[in-house]
Parts: sequence; C-alpha cells; structure tokens
Amino acid sequence: MRTRAIIHLNHFKENVNSVRRRIGKDRHICVSVKADAYGHGALRIAKASIEAGAYCLGVASVSEGSELRRGGIKAPILLFSQPQPKEIADIIKANLTIFISDTEFADVLNERAKAAKVKLNVHLKIDTGMGRLGCSAKEAVALARHIKKRKALKLTGTATHFAVSDSPNRRDIDYTKAQLSRFKRAVNAIRNEGINPGIVHAANSGAIILHPASWFDMVRPGILLYGYKTVEEYEAPLDYLKKLSRLKSLKIEPVMELRGKISLIKKIKKGESVSYGRTWSAGKDTFIGILTTGYADGFPRLASNRWQIVIGGKVYPLVGRVTMDQCCVNLGKKPDVRRWDEAIIFGSDIYPTEPDSQVIRQSAAALAEVVGTIPYEITCNINKRVPRVYVTS
Ligand SMILES: *Cc1c(COP(=O)(O)O)cnc(C)c1O
Repeated sequence: MRTRAIIHLNHFKENVNSVRRRIGKDRHICVSVKADAYGHGALRIAKASIEAGAYCLGVASVSEGSELRRGGIKAPILLFSQPQPKEIADIIKANLTIFISDTEFADVLNERAKAAKVKLNVHLKIDTGMGRLGCSAKEAVALARHIKKRKALKLTGTATHFAVSDSPNRRDIDYTKAQLSRFKRAVNAIRNEGINPGIVHAANSGAIILHPASWFDMVRPGILLYGYKTVEEYEAPLDYLKKLSRLKSLKIEPVMELRGKISLIKKIKKGESVSYGRTWSAGKDTFIGILTTGYADGFPRLASNRWQIVIGGKVYPLVGRVTMDQCCVNLGKKPDVRRWDEAIIFGSDIYPTEPDSQVIRQSAAALAEVVGTIPYEITCNINKRVPRVYVTS
C-alpha cells in the first residue's frame, strides 16, 4: 500500500498503564475515542482500552457510540456532546450514557426512556468555566433534583470540563483551580441534598499532567493516550512544579506512525525546480525521491519545505510543495536510499546514539508545531484512504 498509518497498540496500552500508575488504581479511566479515536480507529482502540483496564469510552456522536456497540463493546459509552431529540431511539438502542445540561432535554429523554421501558444512565454536566455544555454551578443542585425525580433516568455521574488545563501559565493554572473549586462546591451541594452524584469526573489530558486535585473518581484522557503530552510538567511555575514532583512520571509514546514509499528516484541538476509553484530549486546537482504521500492523505501542505522525512534511520529534507498525492525529498548527492524504501513521515522522536547529535523531532506533535496546529488535528486528519495497520509489538 502506498501510504499507511501504523498503529502501535502496544504503545497505546503502555500509555494507559502509565496514566493508571499516575492516578492510582482506585480511579477509573474513560478513554476518549471520539473522531475515530483521533484517527487511530475507534473500535480497535476501544478494544485495546478495555483490555488495558479502562472503565468506559467517550464518543462525540450517537453514531460513533452505535458503531462501538455493533463492534461488540459492552463497556459504558459516554456521549460527550448534546444529542438531538430525534437521536433518542438510537441512544436507547445503544444504551449510551448522556451528559445532561438542562431540564428540557432531561424530560424528553425521560419520557422516551419510559415509553421504551428502559432506564438510561445520565451524567450531570456542570459548566464551571469552559463555556460549552453544562448547567451553571448555581443550577446544579436543582438539575440534580430534577433528574432524581425522573424515574426512567439514573444519575450515575457528575462532570465538568476544563478550558485551559494544558496551559502551564500561572493565570491559566489559577483559572483551572477556580473551575475546580466551583465544581467541588456544586458536587458537595448535591451530596448535601442527599443525592448521590455518582462517578465524579473532570480531568482531560492536560489536567492529568498538571492538576492532580481534579482526578476525583475518573479521568477522561484522549490525546495523552495517543502519545502526546500537550504540556510538560517542567513548564509549570517552580513552586507548582514542586507539588507535581511527587507524582509518578508519565512516560508516553506516540501511537501513530505515518509511512510512505519512495516510488521513484531521479537525478536533477543545479537550478532545476521541484513541484508546483517552483518554491524550491536545487543549489547543486542532487537526487530527489518521490514519496507516495500528499495532503489528501492528511499530510499538511503547510509542511512544504519545512519538514523532514526519515528513511533507513537517516533524515532527509522535504523539498518543494506537498501535492495532493505526492511529495518530494532531497536525497543528496550519493543517496543510500533505494526505490520502494519505506519512509517515515511522522512517528516517534528519534534519540541519537552518538553523544553530540541532536534529537530528531519526528512526532506528529513536532509536525503540528511546524505547521501551526495541535497534534489532535494532525492525527484526526489522516484520511480514510490511508489504511491503518495494527501492530502489537
Ligand atoms: C475530548 C474530550 C476529552 C479528552 O480531551 P483530551 O484533551 O484529548 O484529553 C475529555 N472530556 C471531554 C468532555 C472531551 O470532549
């Protein structure tokens, strides 16, 4: 196959274990598998998650949840976004757990569940400062009471979501702390009403790294399990860092590796240009390798002339524009590369074996930095024409 995404399930499971060691074994993990598990393949990742001991899965749409059920997933599936009333039949069929932000939807859901003679699990969602789904912290008790009275609904969880948990700036750390205290107050108020809030959860990847006080009964990591730390502990202010230093370190390895093939090698002369727009010309005679990967595979066009490709452990610059289905690599004067050699477009960073050489930053996170986005977008954008090849060792 021309271009493939190798999915290292062993890395994924080790990442789950790493998160588990950090949060302690008494807490649950809800793996975010929305958007086809950030491009990694939702069903395979869901199965690997359960095998690694995850408690439940998070999806963004009802159809994503239904697909997991059809694939045989029995674990709870939490719907992270607000569904439409017309999707309720499918929600009941797939037995999805729904975030409830308002009484109106709680009532509709309750009526439909009652008519279907089922009881649906719901989690109360509180907006403590994300500014998206959820009721306000002030309304939380009333909404909990409302749910409690709806006989076809069972309150099995209470949650919030952070806006800046992956930022190491003092101001953002304080913002997350403020969200956290609003959330705690609301959860306590619910308990004081004699209502069991169920599984209390808040932490996304950023909060697993920087905010141990937010771990409660369950954490909801996504990007961290796919192998990217969107913030490093050492970026936090020094006094804050001291608190974090007592935690188990998070060893994380990228799960996805994008590989293409060198389909043709040819010699070009000094001054000759490569690809559309003639943005690169050879400074001297050289060999160019034509790689079978383009922006239609999800390799960003913005990487043109700004990224490097690894072939046989050696690094070669990407030259000229990335086109829809192909791109070009400068192999130099005497290439070690042969036609049909495998080329790594992104994967893991490469650590040098010799003392003075530098780390080659070859991960999707490094590529994201180069093109001005986040690793989430890089892996999500790997197109469906790129087959996922699952490896376990
Ligand atoms: C996507 C999502 C997560 C996971 O976020 P990461 O930054 O990938 O860890 C957790 N909770 C909710 C509600 C989400 O939508």
